[in-house]
Amino acid sequence: MRVSVIGTGYVGLVSGVCLAEIGHQVICVDVDHAKVDMINRGRPPIYEKGLAPLLEKNIGKRLSATTDLATAVKQSELSLIAVGTPFDGDQIDLSFVRQVAHQIGETLRSKAEYHVVVVKSTVVPGTTDQVVTPILEAASGKRAGDDFGVGMNPEFLREGEAVADFMSPDRIVLGALDPRSLHVMAALYEPFDKVDVVRTNSKTAEMIKYTANSLLATMISFSNEIANLCGATGGVDVKDVMQGVHLDKRLSPIMSDGRRITPSFTTYIEAGCGFGGSCFPKDVKALIAYGKQLREPMRLLDAVIQVNRDQPAKIIALLERHLSDLKGRRIAVLGLAFKPETDDMRESPAIAVINALRDRKASISAFDPIAQKEAQKIFSNCTIDYTTSVQEAVSGADAVVILTRWKAFDQLPAILTEMGNSPLVVDGRRMLDKTRLASYAGIGL
Ligand code: NAD
Repeated sequence: MRVSVIGTGYVGLVSGVCLAEIGHQVICVDVDHAKVDMINRGRPPIYEKGLAPLLEKNIGKRLSATTDLATAVKQSELSLIAVGTPFDGDQIDLSFVRQVAHQIGETLRSKAEYHVVVVKSTVVPGTTDQVVTPILEAASGKRAGDDFGVGMNPEFLREGEAVADFMSPDRIVLGALDPRSLHVMAALYEPFDKVDVVRTNSKTAEMIKYTANSLLATMISFSNEIANLCGATGGVDVKDVMQGVHLDKRLSPIMSDGRRITPSFTTYIEAGCGFGGSCFPKDVKALIAYGKQLREPMRLLDAVIQVNRDQPAKIIALLERHLSDLKGRRIAVLGLAFKPETDDMRESPAIAVINALRDRKASISAFDPIAQKEAQKIFSNCTIDYTTSVQEAVSGADAVVILTRWKAFDQLPAILTEMGNSPLVVDGRRMLDKTRLASYAGIGL
């Protein structure tokens, strides 16, 4: 199928590259000339494991990139809208989606062939039918359902595992206006014929995505609230508590041969310094705002956000409990990205922690295997000593703070032993064995 993908961020680029890999002819569109140039040179503008080789393999063959949306839409049968949908402080900001819908609509005015427009961006229920479709109809002068198709296909990929998730999806959700749109959307995913598909209307597809993200965010904040209580209780380690909880066979089922399955679901009930990223915070806030609009207050989700907002402060409280005044103290921050295997720093807990350290006039060294370039953009007017290794970051530090669960940080106890150094280690991800460190503090301990 000939496909245009509008927006070449984490979702758009990964989708475009993977759709080309499974045999479709794909044109990626972005307003950002620099991104388009990089893609056409076979270089991904973002870091995502496995993306570079697939891009290099397909570019110039089944894949191309352009800033010319109209031509891309004319040359394709289906367009995926994959632009950002940030939270504007009050509600979801649909301005990018509206703008793209308008441009596609204008193009459809002079396009004779049937075309299907699919919203892939995460949007609140009703957006595809009540915002996107009317804009498409007004700009094209045509009728949705008769002259062109409309659908909603939420994306579930996880940053850091985005290529693997796209190539081996756990589910495909297709919401459509009418059977013809649905038929075209299903053809896009035909190679994934063993995957469970939910066929529904667009509103339900939109709600599925928010519900999935809200459930995971709720589990994280629930665990963090329990962790904070464990910390205040004394003599209780949340790690032991959560292990006792995980072992419930409804969470970690025991097979007939006695083996226990530990679903990755259980990683969402590990305590830490909070969730970040471009999805959970903004999606939960957008759903809360949507609930308010419908006079259905989302009390539980309100609390999920509050617990998460306060969690980075727990790291600072642990530092101050052990070091009292942080002024002039050298603090090594290990991990800047909101999670491992990505360079994405959007809403990363590291931002709040570093800002609090700056306010207290601490001296900061930092190491992240791939997010340092992003961090330099965010902290452009702040002196952070960016280092090239864990060793360099922790050298001379009064305290080390772990904020991202990077595999490389497993080596910290061995590195400190080798250096003959024993700074306070504040484990914001509870990833280390506390018995291997002379001075250890962690969330929920
Ligand atoms: P992003 O910010 O990384 O990328 C958006 C891209 O759209 C940018 O490259 C931007 O230049 C481009 N763009 C903006 N306006 C445009 C226009 N008028 N025409 C063409 N391009 C335009 O966003 P993202 O992280 O890929 O997220 C996109 C959507 O997917 C959001 O709704 C997000 O909630 C959802 N989503 C994201 C993830 C994730 O892990 N990042 C996962 C699932 C769903």
